[in-house]
Amino acid sequence: MHQNEHSPPYQPIVRSNIDQLPQYHALSPEQRQQIKVVSAVFPFRTNRYVVDHLIDWADVPHDPMYQLTFPQQGMLSAHDYETIARLLRQNAPRDAVQQAAHEIRMRHNPHPAGQMTYNVPNLDGEPLPGLQHKYPETVLFFPSKGQTCHAYCSYCFRWAQFIGVQDLRFAAKESDGLVRYLRQHPEVTDVLFTGGDPAIMKTSALRQYIEPLLAPELDHVQSIRIGTKSLAYWPQRFVTDDDADDLLHLFEELIAAGRHVAIMGHYSHPRELSTPVAEEAVRRLRDVGCEIRMQAPIIRHVNDDPHAWASLWRRGVRLGLVPYYMFVSRDTGPKNYFEVPLAESVKIFRKAYSQVSGLARTVRGPVMSATPGKVLINGVAHIDSQPVFVLTFLQGRDPAWVGRPFFARYDPEATWLFDLQPTHGTKEFFFDASTEYVSA
Ligand SMILES: *Cc1c(COP(=O)(O)O)cnc(C)c1O
Ligand code: SF4
Repeated sequence: MHQNEHSPPYQPIVRSNIDQLPQYHALSPEQRQQIKVVSAVFPFRTNRYVVDHLIDWADVPHDPMYQLTFPQQGMLSAHDYETIARLLRQNAPRDAVQQAAHEIRMRHNPHPAGQMTYNVPNLDGEPLPGLQHKYPETVLFFPSKGQTCHAYCSYCFRWAQFIGVQDLRFAAKESDGLVRYLRQHPEVTDVLFTGGDPAIMKTSALRQYIEPLLAPELDHVQSIRIGTKSLAYWPQRFVTDDDADDLLHLFEELIAAGRHVAIMGHYSHPRELSTPVAEEAVRRLRDVGCEIRMQAPIIRHVNDDPHAWASLWRRGVRLGLVPYYMFVSRDTGPKNYFEVPLAESVKIFRKAYSQVSGLARTVRGPVMSATPGKVLINGVAHIDSQPVFVLTFLQGRDPAWVGRPFFARYDPEATWLFDLQPTHGTKEFFFDASTEYVSA
């Protein structure tokens, strides 16, 4: 099915052309006003596939895919909302609106979990922007041409990259630095292309970044991972786009060269796997030998529902996907609106996990990607009749921390690792002494 009815030409819908959407005109004036006000602060971008096939407009504003992709009033405090709304009512000059929006954004912590100060590696004494190397075996690479997405998630903390504040961007000029770095780091088995969404790039651009990894001296790089939301927001990328076939050929070549191609598919809701073109994208990737894993954060109003997760994992397994992570969303951006307390996330995870077959229980969660490492909340236990969270590192800044269970006082309101306290009169967690907290 190369040309089908699910292939509108790709056309981004943003704040300035949203008037073209018939669905926008069907919204109430209040709803339209909310979109205009909030999108003045947080970048908004969607496309006709998301709008026409993933959102149930009869259920707006509650529809989870609408919540995921359209700006919501609750993302701004009442005060900030009113500031922008007033400027728009007064037809204030663009500059004044942008100034106010900038001021609000800067209060929303654009680089969580110490990303700006940690993890950027050095090569011959020079920092390598566009690379992150936190855990020995995996290097993250942010290709500069992949720093946007086919649609934006409303909760996303990466907006700093999307709105052109240059000095806040992680961007690699080219893969040259990556290759030189990998040559000096034989311990690296995995390179994870991330963004934004690297699948936003033309295949020719992606090829320029990936092909050099096939050099014989980089044979230690056994897995090439591509983190992407395109499978959900623009599956046409793998089916009907001009260079969809080229992309599949590229992956085929990597596999023929003995590498594992792992597509880290960002799936937030079962509806993203419900359309024929979404299924076809999965089929085509699997046909050439890619493995697709599914991961996403748990987000209030979007997927704070065990049945949504269970249904997502079941549907995924049916199509041959591997459930991987349920993340806790990070401490940034419009967090009050989207965050789910750890205690509630654990309940949702268990309720979802307990209703799927073992084939879907490859998933781990809820997981916090925090400064000291990736921390799994195993659940709640009782010690001396006191409730405690049981946690483990899945990845640690120090690999010696991995797999060592530890406890934290149960706190129904905690939303992140830095909210948690050790148990039994201990002042610090075992990893505290060696971790300088930035925001986690
Ligand atoms: C999650 C993550 C990885 C990959 O971890 P896996 O458990 O191997 O998927 C690598 N680097 C960073 C910084 C991460 O947050
Ligand atoms: S797909 Fe990822 S990077 Fe892109 S907007 Fe969503 S969360 Fe952000």
